[in-house]
Amino acid sequence: MSTLTSGADLMALAMRLYPICRSITGNGLRHTLRMLGQSIPLKLIETPSGTAVFDWEVPPEWNIEGARLIDSSGRTVVDFADHNLHIVNYSEPVSATLSLEDLHGRLHTHKANPDWIPYRTSYYKRNWGFCLRERTARELQPGSYRVEIQSSLQPGSLTYGELLLPGASRDEVLVFTHACHPSLANDNVSGLAVTTALAQWLADRPRRYSWRFVFAPGTIGSLCWLRNNESNLGRISHGLVLGLLGDQAAWTYKKSRRGDADIDAIVPWVIRGLDPASRVIDFEPYGYDERQLCSPGFNLPVGRLNRSINDGYPQYHSSADDLSIICADAMARSLEACKAIVEAIESNRRYINLSPKGEPRLGKRGLYGAMGGNSPADSERAMLWMLNQSDGERSLLAISQRSRMSMPLLDGAAKALEAAGLLEEVVETRLG
Ligand code: ZN
Repeated sequence: MSTLTSGADLMALAMRLYPICRSITGNGLRHTLRMLGQSIPLKLIETPSGTAVFDWEVPPEWNIEGARLIDSSGRTVVDFADHNLHIVNYSEPVSATLSLEDLHGRLHTHKANPDWIPYRTSYYKRNWGFCLRERTARELQPGSYRVEIQSSLQPGSLTYGELLLPGASRDEVLVFTHACHPSLANDNVSGLAVTTALAQWLADRPRRYSWRFVFAPGTIGSLCWLRNNESNLGRISHGLVLGLLGDQAAWTYKKSRRGDADIDAIVPWVIRGLDPASRVIDFEPYGYDERQLCSPGFNLPVGRLNRSINDGYPQYHSSADDLSIICADAMARSLEACKAIVEAIESNRRYINLSPKGEPRLGKRGLYGAMGGNSPADSERAMLWMLNQSDGERSLLAISQRSRMSMPLLDGAAKALEAAGLLEEVVETRLG
């Protein structure tokens, strides 16, 4: 098991993941999940090509060996070996000679930035094409071009990785991240690295909830997961889609479709506490796998945490989303934010004060500091808040928001008061 604790560890993993040619199926995706499996015991689940998944179908499995565009002088002008983005992802195999005119519509460039290679896919419509720098495209001379795409579209399967960390309760928290983008750093390897590190950290901790981590290709991967787990979705109490966590932008939380789920209160409270520049945006049916998880037939309490959002930075879905725009420190801080969210979810209990008539005497129970006369230390103030507000209705989050004291501090106070017999947790029973 390779350990992922520091920003340097996260960056090292991102650098190992970056060169892999991922897609929504195929060996690049499997290789990625196996690499993550060196840090966490990830189970790989395969869903065969052709499987009906709600309104979709698992496509043939795509693999690629090489792809080149060669001019009439025999010079290779575009080579997949130079960059994974050079080929339209899911391009069918081609061996043909075409004129430059015939290549029209097959060559994709990034109009705003002539030195960037765009990221293009054609998963569900059989197609092929090259992505290249506008600068290169402008230099192409009229004439015939040889197209050699050594790819395969065969019956196979779609792979996703899953890790369940059982907790005291069968109620689950779902953490979901997409795993299908080739050689794109912020979107996608930063999210893979941070999510893997979070799972590794959480694996060694006591857990109230059961935590389920899913690493899946975008859209069709989450649909497969939903199909395979439809009968158990009632267990999901909270969920978070993670991704784009390595650039320098402040965090953005996107609310669930419900808008008033517990996660929609917890995450904003935590990230604004860590960075006041953090943003909260409303749900919209565009983005990552929250589109599926929050579709009306499921409507799961799942929000999304990013730094920059999808389509929210110039380098998005281009070769300029490379390792230079992510950094160890930003990923490390994102991991810390995720850990704080985990702790907030785990600690967001409701308690009832068992001695509510007047303040109970903390001193005789050894809960007050030895020194009198000074204003109470934070831990003591936290106990006073917990005792005063624990009416069985107010959550630790609500008490944190009212008292402006951190959830970890209140959690520590609650545990001390519970041990002294002054607070009792209100246990909510769920069916299913
Ligand atoms: Zn993307």
